[in-house]
Amino acid sequence: MLDLTGKSALVTGGSRGIGRAIVLRLASQGADVAFSYRGNAAAAEQTRAAVEKLGRRALAVQADVARPEDATRLIEAVTAVFGRIDILVNNAGITSDHLIAFTGIGDWARVIDTNLSGAMYVTRAALGEMSRAGRGRIVNIASVAGQAGNASQANYSAAKAGLIGLTQSVAREVAQDGITCNAVAPGLVPTDLTDELPPAARDAIVGQVALGRPGTADEVAATVVFLASDEAAYITGQVLAVDGGMAMM
Ligand code: NDP
Repeated sequence: MLDLTGKSALVTGGSRGIGRAIVLRLASQGADVAFSYRGNAAAAEQTRAAVEKLGRRALAVQADVARPEDATRLIEAVTAVFGRIDILVNNAGITSDHLIAFTGIGDWARVIDTNLSGAMYVTRAALGEMSRAGRGRIVNIASVAGQAGNASQANYSAAKAGLIGLTQSVAREVAQDGITCNAVAPGLVPTDLTDELPPAARDAIVGQVALGRPGTADEVAATVVFLASDEAAYITGQVLAVDGGMAMM
């Protein structure tokens, strides 16, 4: 069993979905967990209470990762309360799906700003403390769409492909400071994000999955916790697919 006792973690977008599952897995393995959310205070409160029920310290911070000043405030809030950030999971993400011909500047910018720039802002703000301490684990939640592309998701796929490039570059830069940086690329995981998919589109995606079913948020969380643990000390700059054999890169 992976032991995260004494570690302090931060998950962006931890109020719902995959982020929430990551928060709860980290807490179950012994970590104190802070998380950010954009606007859903009720969901954030439920997640915060669930962490405390597991006997760990919890901190919920409203912060829009697409705003650099919010990213800085988020890291300051977490270090003020926990004193350290051993594990950072850049999970916050959105979609705004359109065929490329119908993708407006706003649809493009919103998705890039949140899914890619947001991870950069939070990572940049967290690295000072991690580097000084000479340890750290960064896990970025990418997507199979960032590896293989997806029709109607040019903005999302570009953001996630960029996130993979960010992961590899950061991994090379910070290895000397004892910090690893990896990405997890989920396939289809039923959450609020995928709720809008028409049933036919969902069936078509599942048809490409070797294991023949969607994944669960907890299956993604289990992989994140592994990459965040001491057991993954010799893994960096990697993209680990949790997609039931959908992409097989
Ligand atoms: P959900 O829509 O269920 O949850 C999104 C979370 O991100 C919420 O906590 C939300 O906060 C938060 N969030 C959204 N925008 C911002 C922002 N600007 N600043 C801070 N927090 C924000 O999504 P999922 O759980 O499905 O997705 C989580 C991650 O996994 C995303 O990066 C997504 O791209 C990725 N992913 C998901 C897949 C899937 O099939 N579900 C597949 C592959 C990758 P609030 O509650 O306040 O709105």
